[in-house]
Amino acid sequence: MTRIAGNRSLHSPGPTHVPDEVLNAMHRQPLDHGDARLGETIEAIETGLKRLLQTKEGEVFMFASNGHGAWETTIVNIIAPGQAALIPGTGHFSEQWAVQTEGCGRKAVRTPFKEGYPADPNDIEKALRADTKREIAAVFAVHTDTASSTTNDLAAMRAAIDASGHPALFVVDVVASLAAAPFAMDDSRANVVVGASQKGLMSPPGLGFVAVDQLAREVAAANPAPRYYWDWKRRQASYSYNKFCGTPPQNLLFGIEAALELLFREGLDQVFARHALLSSAVHAAVECWSREGVISFHCRVPESRSVSVTTIEMAKGYDPEAMRSVARERFQVAVAGALGPQTGKAFRIGHLGDLNAPMILGALAGVEAAMTVQGIPFGRDGVQQAVACLAKG
Ligand SMILES: *Cc1c(COP(=O)(O)O)cnc(C)c1O
Repeated sequence: MTRIAGNRSLHSPGPTHVPDEVLNAMHRQPLDHGDARLGETIEAIETGLKRLLQTKEGEVFMFASNGHGAWETTIVNIIAPGQAALIPGTGHFSEQWAVQTEGCGRKAVRTPFKEGYPADPNDIEKALRADTKREIAAVFAVHTDTASSTTNDLAAMRAAIDASGHPALFVVDVVASLAAAPFAMDDSRANVVVGASQKGLMSPPGLGFVAVDQLAREVAAANPAPRYYWDWKRRQASYSYNKFCGTPPQNLLFGIEAALELLFREGLDQVFARHALLSSAVHAAVECWSREGVISFHCRVPESRSVSVTTIEMAKGYDPEAMRSVARERFQVAVAGALGPQTGKAFRIGHLGDLNAPMILGALAGVEAAMTVQGIPFGRDGVQQAVACLAKG
């Protein structure tokens, strides 16, 4: 293989760039099952995730899995056979969660998804009021839908559940917003929170987790559906081997412990402020690129645009996939493709995790270079606008 000098930049919305401190923490021999140091790492992660999620109520259960595993453990513990999950339409990820719920033999009730807009909380209230038979056991809400790059209003969703008088649990997927956008489990009155390692948590893929409050633990305990690996009761063991229902993903855990330390050392407020600033720089560039009428924001509501990822549409006749190839192979900037109905019509710039100003400027410049090569018309001052935004701070 030919050598490519310098860094290759990864700007997908997960997996994200992994800091050296995290890679170095993973570079060690595994421990034997009885070694107390492993228990200490697991405890540090449980404590750290609770602090990150801002919960005293929630207990953290971890799985050697990706985010889909964390979805599945929520489905099989919370939704008894014959019951349903209400899934507000936020984009491709809400749809996939609904499909997985049905794949597990449970019902999924969907609220309509309008491309480019966040979920409408009124639809949640309406669907819950219509559920007179009380089939719906939980509302599965995606905080930031990584496909539509739209962040949904959790407070409004919670208020809609309350207004309906329905006892459904509130389950929130923060896979793409954790450690990027402010979120507090207890203040949001979320009963279950779903996360994974490879996005804002700055770690390699392979760990899914949930935080579960007491009410949700009681609902799960009363659910007769057979389950084993995903069962939350099993996760309440003290011995690490039992807690993971087998060998824990040790080296990944060492990495996540280090990643949490980095987040707390930077300070969560600073982490959120950094994401807000870097995303506003990306938005300033996209706004500028849009001037020629070919490039446009997928999310039509500026205040709902995510701090983690931006989905950028390209007019008919232009090929975002070809542009992405040029960006990756010639300019060493990897951006993501679009998902679901947007496939082939848009691309996505991930801007979450271990990221700073020169990295995001490099990504924007790489995309501009690739669009130039491909003859895609765009407003020329994008990087300049991003610089101006960063300079203001
Ligand atoms: C990435 C993502 C998932 C799925 O995570 P995997 O680790 O790819 O299974 C779920 N929900 C959201 C919002 C995501 O961004």
